[in-house]
Amino acid sequence: MRSNYCGELSENDIGKEVTLCGWANGYRDHGGVIFIDLRDKAGLVQLVCDPADSQSAHKSATMVRDEFVLIAKGRVRARGEGLENPNIATGKIEIVVDDLIIENPSTPLPFVINDEKVGEETLLNYRYLDLRKKSSYEIFRLRSKATIAARNILDANGFLEVETPILTKSTPEGARDYLVPSRVHGGEFYALPQSPQLFKQLLMVAGFDKYFQIAKCFRDEDLRADRQPEFTQIDIELSFAGQEDVIKISEDMLKAVFSACGHTITIPFNRITYKEAMEKYGSDKPDLRYDLGMVDVIDIFKNCSNEIFSNIAKNKHHNRIKALKVPNGDNIFSKRQMKGFEDYVRKFGASGLGYFQLKEDGLKGPLAKFFEQKDLEEIIKVTDLKVGDVIFFGAGEKKLVWDYMGRFRIYLAQLMQIIPEDVFEFVWVVDFPMFEVDDGRVKALHHPFTMPRDLDCEYVEEIESIAYDIVLNGTELGGGSVRIHKPEIQKEVFKLLGISDEEADEKFGFLVEALEYGAPPHAGLAFGLDRLIMLLTKSSSIRDVIAFPKTQRAQCPLTKAPSEVDVEQLRELSIRIRETKKV
Ligand code: ASP
Repeated sequence: MRSNYCGELSENDIGKEVTLCGWANGYRDHGGVIFIDLRDKAGLVQLVCDPADSQSAHKSATMVRDEFVLIAKGRVRARGEGLENPNIATGKIEIVVDDLIIENPSTPLPFVINDEKVGEETLLNYRYLDLRKKSSYEIFRLRSKATIAARNILDANGFLEVETPILTKSTPEGARDYLVPSRVHGGEFYALPQSPQLFKQLLMVAGFDKYFQIAKCFRDEDLRADRQPEFTQIDIELSFAGQEDVIKISEDMLKAVFSACGHTITIPFNRITYKEAMEKYGSDKPDLRYDLGMVDVIDIFKNCSNEIFSNIAKNKHHNRIKALKVPNGDNIFSKRQMKGFEDYVRKFGASGLGYFQLKEDGLKGPLAKFFEQKDLEEIIKVTDLKVGDVIFFGAGEKKLVWDYMGRFRIYLAQLMQIIPEDVFEFVWVVDFPMFEVDDGRVKALHHPFTMPRDLDCEYVEEIESIAYDIVLNGTELGGGSVRIHKPEIQKEVFKLLGISDEEADEKFGFLVEALEYGAPPHAGLAFGLDRLIMLLTKSSSIRDVIAFPKTQRAQCPLTKAPSEVDVEQLRELSIRIRETKKV
């Protein structure tokens, strides 16, 4: 219908006859002449409806209101000196309209597009209106570019795009499954995939060699700003390949994706082991855009005359005493702030937060009296303190200390405003433990199909896996691993996870069976596409980069899903609702 997009017109088009289509983005009646801003995906242009040019176009223009759908025919002309609008890209020109069709009127909108005060529920209820804003279009334009760039580079490297089922059996990735009742098999359920993990492994057994998929995944977990019940992964898997092959193709892919979105990134990325990440930054997804790091001081605290600390220091396997140094902190923070920091870490289970300041005359702070001079000097030495520096201490069970000190590190960096905005700091976190023990239960840290390095360790937590995560600016962008391709190792891992033979057979029998038919060594990784786009577009929520996202309570205000269904439908599915639980 159109000859041009509104936003793409420029002075080069002056004199041209054009047909434009779009929405009225505002109108002004200047005593006879009506000005309308016409909007399409490319931007705005001003229509001028002057009765001297066209009586009928002017008549139509009198009826135009915001968001009416218009088709305008006219001629591009220069606005003339003093009449230009520097705020819009087409501000030097305008369209003299000789034919204006109101293709469809619009009811007044329930909110003003771009108004930041509108509640999320309303925005999602009318998501198609919220998506009319330019910034939304820009996000989805970039998302499309990024996805196509990923597809192209994977295709160029011999990867095959294969779709895997949505109605399937549980694929454990650590969340609850979404279940779909079967009508044909009353009382039985499909699970929506938490990831295509098992299918992509089966494709390797099939000999497909290199697979990828832009895959929808479904996880029923408590939602946070960067989580959605359904989300998208760029999922890859390679045969006769190990960690280095996966890292190489991932870096090439990220470079291509970032480049398609206008950013140059440098590869290869840095690497850090899981252990170092936890010990130094208290997180397996450290933000390395800034330099705050922790050092271990547990050995020095053995000599501390305060029994709380010396007792913690006695058990180095379970506990940690970590010192986080803030250069020049003494001059940055007030005494009151220093006290307030304790309240912050307490929220995450800390029982307190010690600190020392290095003054001209030595180390000062509430804990100083519990140490002998030589130990104080040792603290200065291992933390490499200069006069004016402050160190904060976390002491206790290691996971707890890592967690609250890691959060505290980020909190301080935000407070001190030392996080550079325009930097993409990638890091590979490698050598993850295979298992974690939670409440006495052994769980797979990645998933149960990850290859352990050596199962023969004193503590199950010490077993390492060949698993890796890619982290960008403190956000986990993706993760993967070398997989178990030998059935006996897979069975052994199930055993360590406390999965009985029967249960393993019932849940994953098909995988173990496939491994018995000549499975090649294989490895892979999945990127969270939504998170990637969120970081690329500097969006504050994952919801901004998903066309039709759900609320924090996993609802879709637009379609009103989830919703009740007819009794008849339930009967067909052999389901009777006994109670409804509102959370
Ligand atoms: N399936 C894994 C996940 O969704 C990724 C992988 O191991 O490739 O996290």
